[in-house]
Amino acid sequence: MRKPIIAGNWKMHLTLAEAHALVRQLLGLDAKSVDVVICPPFTALSSVAALVKGSRIGLGAQDLFWEPQGAFTGEVSPVMLVDVGCRYVIIGHSERRTLFGETDESVNRKLVAALKHGLLPIVCIGETLAQREGHQTFHVITRQLEGAFTGIAEADGARITLAYEPVWAIGTGRNATPEQAQEVHAFIRQWLGKRFGSSLADSLRIQYGGSVNAANAASLLQQLDVDGALVGGASLKADAFGTIMKAAVEAKVKAVV
Ligand code: PEP
Repeated sequence: MRKPIIAGNWKMHLTLAEAHALVRQLLGLDAKSVDVVICPPFTALSSVAALVKGSRIGLGAQDLFWEPQGAFTGEVSPVMLVDVGCRYVIIGHSERRTLFGETDESVNRKLVAALKHGLLPIVCIGETLAQREGHQTFHVITRQLEGAFTGIAEADGARITLAYEPVWAIGTGRNATPEQAQEVHAFIRQWLGKRFGSSLADSLRIQYGGSVNAANAASLLQQLDVDGALVGGASLKADAFGTIMKAAVEAKVKAVV
């Protein structure tokens, strides 16, 4: 059975004082039987790292650059993320792809760099509304998977989490239906099986992301191939994030019974 993984993408939100207040609330939540990750903005990583040290909450960054150091103004390297206490890093978020020119090739370079430096990548893929309506979803997902996983060996693949995030569902309040999510997750797992074999395909966790909240989390997480959630807006409220964590544990317990 795959352990569920719930990650909070705080995006460009929260001052230090707000971030610390949220972390203190999160530390009071029961995080057994679920991997919990929070991804604050770069400015809060260092002080949040100190707060979550020794707890069950894993720290992640929202992006990285592939070089270890150098003249790359504004960028943050994998070495720096490890140094500050990050275990995870989000790569290829659709906001980076659509607003900041991220490509399948840059996603791959970042993925290779993250793995090289011992980080656990959360790689985001997903189609736009026009692509879904044009029946291009599986084509786009295949292209993004092939791009991201170029040159990645099976042993490294095991350290990756994928996040299926339909672009039309991110920050819109319009989540994919559980059936839509399951359909794409099953497709992704099938692709992984063909690329790496059934062992990796069965163990790699695939999160769903896109307007997950306290009310819809259970129905999404009950889907066979939905192993967790990447949560934006609802991760900024401890009670909503806690409800999503609980829904993940309950959904997976139910699946075993
Ligand atoms: C995200 O930022 O990855 C995300 C899924 O955002 P939201 O939950 O707000 O749709």
